[in-house]
Amino acid sequence: MREKLMELLSHTAMLKTGDPAHPENATRLAAILSRLKSSEYNIDLTVERLATRDELRLVHSTAYIDQMLSFDKEYMSLEHEMLIAPSDVESARLAAGIGLELVERVLDGRARSGFALVRPPGHHARPDAGMGFCIFNNIAIAAKRALALGIQRILILDFDVHHGNGTQEAFYDDNRVLFIDIHQDDLFPKHSGSIDEKGKDAGLGFTVNIPLPDSCFDDDYLRVLEKQIKPLALNFKPELILVSAGFDAHEDDPLASMRLSSKGYGQIAKQIKAIANASCDGKCIFFLEGGYNPENLANDVFECIHEFNTTTTS
Ligand SMILES: [Zn+2]
Repeated sequence: MREKLMELLSHTAMLKTGDPAHPENATRLAAILSRLKSSEYNIDLTVERLATRDELRLVHSTAYIDQMLSFDKEYMSLEHEMLIAPSDVESARLAAGIGLELVERVLDGRARSGFALVRPPGHHARPDAGMGFCIFNNIAIAAKRALALGIQRILILDFDVHHGNGTQEAFYDDNRVLFIDIHQDDLFPKHSGSIDEKGKDAGLGFTVNIPLPDSCFDDDYLRVLEKQIKPLALNFKPELILVSAGFDAHEDDPLASMRLSSKGYGQIAKQIKAIANASCDGKCIFFLEGGYNPENLANDVFECIHEFNTTTTS
């Protein structure tokens, strides 16, 4: 029986923002949309859902939200390498809103899996502060929404080359969310994501960091997925899997020093699908995080979607 295809959500409003001189600019998403347009996979570009203040409050403080919303339409340079271009905040609200929409579609059965093709990314955004290129933490907001809808165990898997410090912080004391992060050791943020960061209180043991040395190849990542992540994930028995899908571990990415190929990213997606099929009837949502060589990023995303849609592993 043919499985339902991965639901792809994006919106062209996220293409009108971003400083073209900044690595996190609209050409990234434009390249992805262009690549998918020439494929057999359809993207739903009709959902123009801006996360509300209440939805952003699922993760972020009121003071931080108010600060960000006051910056809309301005260029602002902030600490922690944040540069906000006109309308970036609106894009960030849309990115979070599209993630929320996908969670609701997967949980009420309209979709089985999905990919939020959004920008700016979110996994560095902390509850009280933006960071890196991240304004609102799209995946953490989506996870909080899923918990509010009654889901009791969520696996968040972050394979962006950088440590997802904001997501880790949002669930550090929460045993309902198993956060597993595979990243290049001590890249950005500095001194974040060591194996000693394991969670606290009820959440102790529910944060798992897997820092890797630079120059790891496809096989290195696939081995970690099979030997370390898969057993942890299956033992946790998640009801939903959310993936921080960053593609800046690609061999030609300008911001890191890993050696992954586009085909390798496809194989990573294939393994994640196998975990999702074995644990939660395939309920899995990818969220676009990093990846700063637009052409490679588009190919990486395509391979992920293609493998996820064609793999029948159960
Ligand atoms: Zn990254």
